[in-house]
Formats: sequence, structure tokens, C-alpha cells
Amino acid sequence: MNLADIKTVKELLTPLGFSFKKSLGQNFLIDPDVCPAMAESAADGETGILEIGPGVGVLTVECAKVAKKVVAIELDNRLKPVLAKTLADYPNAEVVFGDAMELDLTALIKEKFSDCKKVAICANLPYYITSPIIMKLLTSKLPIESITVMVQKEAGERLCAEVGSRDAGAVTVAVAYYAKAQLLFEVGRDSFMPPPNVDSAVIRLDVLENPPSKVKNEEFFFSLIKACFAQRRKTLCNTVSNTLGIGKEKIANALTELGLSETVRSEALTFEQLAALSDKLM
Ligand code: SAM
Repeated sequence: MNLADIKTVKELLTPLGFSFKKSLGQNFLIDPDVCPAMAESAADGETGILEIGPGVGVLTVECAKVAKKVVAIELDNRLKPVLAKTLADYPNAEVVFGDAMELDLTALIKEKFSDCKKVAICANLPYYITSPIIMKLLTSKLPIESITVMVQKEAGERLCAEVGSRDAGAVTVAVAYYAKAQLLFEVGRDSFMPPPNVDSAVIRLDVLENPPSKVKNEEFFFSLIKACFAQRRKTLCNTVSNTLGIGKEKIANALTELGLSETVRSEALTFEQLAALSDKLM
């Protein structure tokens, strides 16, 4: 069964009276080259793959071909009979019905992948939860090696931007704390059914054992990062002072001690400089 074929997908879904739910980010991949490339990037024969949102299983089957095991979390119960059919020939693939944002992923990985040497995430993410799900995957400190996911192109560019460049934002720095990010390839909107209004990109996050720079207080570091990029047109000093209520003089002094101008903008700071600033301000 070719699940990247529009006709096949229609034959599976039409008898169920299935209608695509925009609110669940239901844009199914119909490009035959994309899923094999994602699966190859994410897994080898020793990997357990956790997928979020299998849809009709187009990526699930490609992962099942290269990985030791695949467990896919799907929120939409209407896809139960479809997935039972499309995954019938893949005994190493299993679906858990539930909300990926709510489930205890640490417990799920422990339960399902004890026989796998390594675990990775591979998914065509529902775009309405791209950043929250990526941050959940990273901050839960799951025992995973990498995250290979399809995201909206602009989100991919932001997530993979270099910290210290114009394209960086709070999420760039937050991701860089946990992982090394790279944009693998772009995917046009016509590769989906129904086509979304935006183009997409596949990114890979390789999870780091330690952050690029240690910080004294993680919680403060993340609130500082949020504040730094909250008012992008303002200088770092102004936006941090306005957002966190820290005196401008204290911030200006910390910047001077780091050899930075008092009028510097947040996007000009490297990861190491942001970490050092956090330690000075906390
Ligand atoms: N993997 C399929 C593909 O590539 O064609 C479908 C991808 S589609 C972009 C996103 C999928 O995520 C849909 O099947 C949707 O029902 C599911 N989904 C949406 N929100 C979810 C959530 N919170 N937890 C788990 N799955 C979710």
C-alpha cells in the first residue's frame, strides 16, 4: 500500500466519512521521497522511534522499515481503523491513542523501548503545537538521541538559527541549551493533502549531554532569554528591565563587565554571553 499516494489515502478515509481537522494540524504527507529520508535520518536497526501524530501511518511505515520499533502517539481516535489496516504488516509498529502534550513520555519510553539501544523522535508535527511539543521533548530530559521533525519553514529557520544572529529568538536559545539544531531540507506546501498555507522544513536536533555553557540558575536563564526577545525593537537593557523589573544600571554594568555596549541588542549576544549575563544578573 502506497500511503504517499492521494488515491490510496482517499480510499482509506472516504468510507469513514473522514474530514481533515485543521484544529489538529491534519495535513498528510503525499510526497513519496520525504518520509523515507526522514526515517533514514532518524533511525537505524537499533533505534526505537517515538512518533507524534501518525495520521494514516505514512511516516510510521517508513520508520518501521528502518528502526527496531516504532511507537506512534495519535490524538484522533477516528484514525484507529485506518492505522489498524495500514500498520497490519508491521509488527514492530504500535499506536498509542492520546495527547502527546499530556502523556508521560518518560514513562512511555521506559515501558516501550527497554529492548532498544537508543531512542529518537521522528514526526511530521501538528503545527499548532510545534514549539510547545519541542520544548516538552527537550525539557523533560527524555533519554533520546535526536529529534527529526517536520515543522513550518519559518519555525524551522528560527529553531535552527545561530544564536547571535538576526534570525535568533528566545526559542533558538532555548533549543540551543539542549540540542544542536540543523535544517535538513525544505518541503513545499504541495507535498501535503490538504496543502497548508505555508511551506515546511525538516529539522534535526541532536540532544546534547551538557548545555554549551553551564548556568547557575536554569529557571532564571530561561526567564532572562524570554525577556531578552520580548521586545525585539528595544535594546537588551530596556527589554530586560521592562520585562523582569531589574534596574537598568545593574544590567548596563553587567553588560560592561562582559565587554558589551549598554545599547546592545539581544540578537547580537552569543550563547556564552547570554549565559554569563544570566549568572551576573541573578
Ligand atoms: N504523520 C502524518 C503525515 O505525515 O502525513 C500526519 C501528520 S499531521 C501534520 C499531524 C498529526 O498529528 C495528525 O494525525 C493529528 O491528528 C495528530 N495530532 C494533532 N495533535 C496531536 C496531539 N496533541 N497528540 C498526538 N497527535 C496529535
